Amino acid sequence: MIQAKDLSKSYGAIEALRSVSFDIAAGEIVGLLGPNGAGKTTIIKILTGYLQPDAGEVQVDGLDVLNQTRQVQERIGYLPETAPLYPELSVQAYLRLMAQLRQLREEVQVTYLADAIRATGLEKHLTRPIGQLSKGFRQRVGLAQAILHQPRLLILDEPTIGLDPTQIVEIRHLIKRLAETSTILFSTHILSEVEALCDRVIILINGQIRADARLKDLAATSDAVLVLDQAPDGVERTLGALEGVRQVIAGRTTDGFPSYQIKTNGDRVDLCPAIYETARHQSWPLRELRRDVRTLEAVFNELATAG
Ligand code: ATP
Repeated sequence: MIQAKDLSKSYGAIEALRSVSFDIAAGEIVGLLGPNGAGKTTIIKILTGYLQPDAGEVQVDGLDVLNQTRQVQERIGYLPETAPLYPELSVQAYLRLMAQLRQLREEVQVTYLADAIRATGLEKHLTRPIGQLSKGFRQRVGLAQAILHQPRLLILDEPTIGLDPTQIVEIRHLIKRLAETSTILFSTHILSEVEALCDRVIILINGQIRADARLKDLAATSDAVLVLDQAPDGVERTLGALEGVRQVIAGRTTDGFPSYQIKTNGDRVDLCPAIYETARHQSWPLRELRRDVRTLEAVFNELATAG
């Protein structure tokens, strides 16, 4: 659905994007995660044809964004960082206007409008001026205009920015529902947003992609965690002598049981079978044995501090 290749963009001396490439397949919901100033909005503006890159190519649904901008924009639903709303118009008048601007065919206008209103839960607010709505409802109106023409691709720039916790949950539910029928790329600097919404994340730092992976792959490590009921002598030494083990870090679980984090020497091997065999052979009082996982926060911090 999206193919971006070697995109670069500078604003004067600021290199906002440096050779950014990624593909997004139809049906995916992908989070573009990065700190402030990472280049997320710049990517989104390029994908939606609002900004020309200095170098690189980008295709949406097989069309060249730079040369077939109009056709691409017809296929995309776009919610920019600040939704393009007219506060003095009622919700209904605004959405009708958007339907006209989108040049929706007469015969589908009524049903498409009704579908967008239903999907965003705006039925009870149609006659209210947009300027009088809460920020969460204004964001729904922004989403309604983005999905009005039933695009197969939705691009959302920081869709929950500035919303309160209840509104955030509501908008996330809405995005999840929209993902059932559309491909979605959204930008955010909120880690929990990515965890709540998508299974693939692209991490952008300083205009470069630092990770592009499924969340579960990003979280996976080949390290293991062993928890025992009590600590017999020599556990660290015995574990440390196993093949593929680089380091054993002893500690305690929050409920006070002795625990061991067993770090591999980098090979993508699963240490658990060997640890289990050892524990059984040594008659250690085994309580828990599992692969260690990293949180998205740990991955992100590692990438962000790597420079
Ligand atoms: P945020 O989360 O703060 O919105 P972002 O990841 O969306 O950030 P961009 O808005 O793409 O990042 O900005 C990337 C870099 O380019 C930043 O250093 C920003 O200051 C700079 N930048 C963006 N737009 C312009 C512009 N029109 N003129 C000059 N510099 C710009």
